[in-house]
Amino acid sequence: SKALGRNCYCFFEDSMNANVREQLELIQDLRESVDRQELVLHYQPKVVAPAGPVIGAEALLRWQHPTRGLLLPDKFIHLAEKSGLIVPIGEWVLNEACRQARVWRDAGWRDWTMAVNVSSLQFSNAGLIPSVRTALARHELPPDALVLEITEMTAMRNVDDSRTVLEELTAMGVRISIDDFGTGYSSLLHLKRLPATELKIDRGFVRDLEHDSEDAAIVSAIVALGRTLNLTIVAEGVETNAQQTLLTRLGCSFLQGFLLGHPVPAEDFAHGTPTQGA
Ligand code: C2E
Ligand code: CA
Ligand code: CA
Ligand code: CA
Repeated sequence: SKALGRNCYCFFEDSMNANVREQLELIQDLRESVDRQELVLHYQPKVVAPAGPVIGAEALLRWQHPTRGLLLPDKFIHLAEKSGLIVPIGEWVLNEACRQARVWRDAGWRDWTMAVNVSSLQFSNAGLIPSVRTALARHELPPDALVLEITEMTAMRNVDDSRTVLEELTAMGVRISIDDFGTGYSSLLHLKRLPATELKIDRGFVRDLEHDSEDAAIVSAIVALGRTLNLTIVAEGVETNAQQTLLTRLGCSFLQGFLLGHPVPAEDFAHGTPTQGA
């Protein structure tokens, strides 16, 4: 049984090595992804509850890998974080999203916001503020056309540093959304002192909303908190008409989710009132 144990161990070690090797290969590929122009942004509409109009878009990163096909962020964002590549990639995202926002403004969609996700390493990187400034200037965008989405977890990790960065961004006029809200154990005192403009209720509270009265109570509490702190409330992950109706009734001002529009390439983005069940 000792031999067997060793075999099992070796087998486990081999598959682990294969996994590590694959991750290292992906990081190597990721390193070249920007230069090879393999990264693309898809855009998901954010709409006024319950059913529109569209008031903005969230840019979501995809990687057109040369052999693996179109990869979603859960396949590579953690590698980009671990390797530090998220910093140049994040800069690319910021610039590309601002470029697209410029195109849409020129096409006549004014008062639109473009939301960009900022990872925790990017957020703690000194280059963030200069790269935001550069992207806005290059594409001649008013700062309030840009929303930076920062997860509650990231915002609360080091509250004093977060506040300094967020205050500087807010002073520039950029809007701040606290993403995945409800998952990060915010202290209300800290939340009160963060200069944010929006709370995004995590999809986890929306999924079973129709059947789970606790989720409904949590959504109500977040809406009340948002009103008190003068923050806009967005619900994400809206997939059904029942969720749409309930979230609207509970007081969410804006909705995002597959029901209102999937993330799509810029050329497929519909600007008007979304069709139900699109
Ligand atoms: P997130 O910021 O919470 O983005 C929302 C995710 O939910 C997106 O997944 C979106 O496609 C998905 N989603 C939208 N509506 C629905 C719905 O109705 N139902 C369900 N089940 N899902 C919905 P995606 O694009 O795979 O992105 C996953 C995460 O990767 C994002 O979560 C964000 O944390 C991260 N991410 C995406 N793009 C970027 C980026 O450019 N930079 C950084 N740092 N992170 C990014
Ligand atoms: Ca987000
Ligand atoms: Ca989210
Ligand atoms: Ca999320």
